[in-house]
Amino acid sequence: MIQSDVDLQPFNTMTIAARAKYFCAATSHDEMREALAFARKQQLPILPLGGGSNIVLTGDFPGLALHIGLLGHEFEPLDDGVRLRASAGENWHQLVMHSVALGYGGLENLALIPGNIGAAPIQNIGAYGVELKDTFEQLTAMEIATGNLVTFTAEACQFGYRDSLFKGDAKDRFLICEVVLKLPARWQPQVSYPALQQYFAEHQQGEQDLTPEQVAGAVIAIRNSKLPNPVEIPNAGSFFKNPVVGASQYAELKQKHPDLVAFAAGNDWKLAAGWLIDQAGWRGFARDGVGVHDRQALVLVNPGHRCGSQVVDLAQDIARDIQQKFGVVLEPEPRFYP
Ligand SMILES: Cc1cc2nc3c(=O)[nH]c(=O)nc-3n(C[C@H](O)[C@H](O)[C@H](O)COP(=O)(O)OP(=O)(O)OC[C@H]3O[C@@H](n4cnc5c(N)ncnc54)[C@H](O)[C@@H]3O)c2cc1C
Repeated sequence: MIQSDVDLQPFNTMTIAARAKYFCAATSHDEMREALAFARKQQLPILPLGGGSNIVLTGDFPGLALHIGLLGHEFEPLDDGVRLRASAGENWHQLVMHSVALGYGGLENLALIPGNIGAAPIQNIGAYGVELKDTFEQLTAMEIATGNLVTFTAEACQFGYRDSLFKGDAKDRFLICEVVLKLPARWQPQVSYPALQQYFAEHQQGEQDLTPEQVAGAVIAIRNSKLPNPVEIPNAGSFFKNPVVGASQYAELKQKHPDLVAFAAGNDWKLAAGWLIDQAGWRGFARDGVGVHDRQALVLVNPGHRCGSQVVDLAQDIARDIQQKFGVVLEPEPRFYP
């Protein structure tokens, strides 16, 4: 069940060629525990793998890459909504589409996000004004050190913008096995995002008549028009997080750049990293098989299937340039391994 020296190129949407010292595709808790025991014995680091859409492999991985393929999901009707219980290896987009096809709302703005539900809580996936945390109830995870199952409530997960406990204090300590979401009985479409407003205005659809399936359809159409499909053009989605700055820095930047795109985030401001990169002239830039997507400057692409170091070099050049031009620090969104 445990293979050695395995090519990870098919397991990451950036299609970076890198090898794992060991690889295991686990489809049950027992298989996960066996794989963890193997790694523990040899003191190997673990790389948990879902769909590989949010990782950058900067070199060969000297430990055990563990693909979590637990499958199964169920909808449980409740008095005040419906509970969706899904195993970690279930594809996120398919779950969203299954929910909206049944008429359940709550996940439609998150349609077409690649990857599996097991990774969704790690960065609290979000799009078009909605985040996983908005419907999240709890998750069950296996502790890497012991193989024990532990349950985490929404509060315990400490969700933030592209952030959770699993990027902080619990980093590299748990394998998420199951996620439970609660979808509301009284659904309200969340269509305040400008791109959605524009889509429904163009399609002459009033907000009051919308169904979850129609909102998912709009999100899919908008995403397809802006974002490269990783199957055609290898990428890891947004390469940088939108930087958050204080009110005075925002005011200064807005004065210098009246077109600056930003969203209020409490007392702070979230700047559109894509706008900054675009303004700095990087959109469409290409170098040695890696580049910046020509329709969305926030997405780095790897059409030449180059190694991770070339992607990282480009990301560093962009971040340095943005810091010089705008005084803003860009942080990568995907996780780098090893
Ligand atoms: C074209 C494109 C568009 C995207 N759009 C969005 C977007 O709109 N919003 C957004 O938030 N993200 C977006 N992403 C990023 C990505 O899809 C999400 O972060 C997604 O949740 C990653 O899922 P995955 O299964 O591919 O995770 P992977 O890439 O396999 O893993 C991501 C991280 O989670 C860890 N991990 C994976 N599974 C588990 C598990 N079961 N237990 C513990 N750790 C685990 C991995 O070790 C890694 O650190 C996009 C990516 C692409 C390529």
